[in-house]
Amino acid sequence: MILGDLELIPLTDGYFYLDGGAMFGVVPKALWQRRAPSDDRNRIRMGLRPLLVRGEKTMIIDAGIGGKMDARSQEIYAIDRAHDLDASLAAAGVSADDVEIVLASHLHFDHAGGFTVRDGAGGLVPKFRNARYVARTAEWEDATHPHERNRASYLAENFVPLMDAGVFDLVPDDREIMPGVRVVRTGGHTMHHQIVMLESGGRTAVFAADLMPTTAHVDEPWIMAYDLYPMDTLAFKRTFVREAIDREYLIFFEHDPDVAAGYIREDQGRKRVEPAV
Ligand SMILES: [Zn+2]
Repeated sequence: MILGDLELIPLTDGYFYLDGGAMFGVVPKALWQRRAPSDDRNRIRMGLRPLLVRGEKTMIIDAGIGGKMDARSQEIYAIDRAHDLDASLAAAGVSADDVEIVLASHLHFDHAGGFTVRDGAGGLVPKFRNARYVARTAEWEDATHPHERNRASYLAENFVPLMDAGVFDLVPDDREIMPGVRVVRTGGHTMHHQIVMLESGGRTAVFAADLMPTTAHVDEPWIMAYDLYPMDTLAFKRTFVREAIDREYLIFFEHDPDVAAGYIREDQGRKRVEPAV
């Protein structure tokens, strides 16, 4: 997919399953199960979709759940990496060593799990050996000082080894990461969660990360119970979704099981996503 001077290639690191109730917050199951059918453990299928951006440099935004989860977690989340990030990168004609920038929306395990790998000697090393990793300073602070409610999401093995290896760049605010690629803090899901605006050739695409994890989340009140600050998610979504409709942003849905990207359309007050990929 070409956006001016940027080439955007949706990747996959497979699928995992999360509790459907937790994924839709205050929305009753009677409503969400029509959009996201649940299994016998009330879990719904979720995609893991990092985005490859080729521009001035080769960048990957988030890196999936990775291969380090233990057997218990693999079972709880029904992780399916039959087609993992390596296969996906290979299909795109790129190797992990070609990646020059790894950009994090935030540091939860389903986004940062693929940042590091085991080295065979019991250690943990950066997966992308030639890359600088970029995250928000305050997200790093939160990830390294977890509390009871977010501890299960922040696994030190995914990000501390990057700091130890000296490959982590922390940025304190909204800014351009490379030409045409800009991060914008949304808050909500985590206090310093960010989305990525991709702007080139007069068009805009957005990597929405956990602001709108699936196409079922474009309606304003469809907000995850996982969000630490759901009212901040709501406030950001109100403005953002309006803008996305009016300006025809191409939205990348990181966790949608079927649709990698699409346009939000509005027909008589009802929002829907027109799939583009
Ligand atoms: Zn997520």
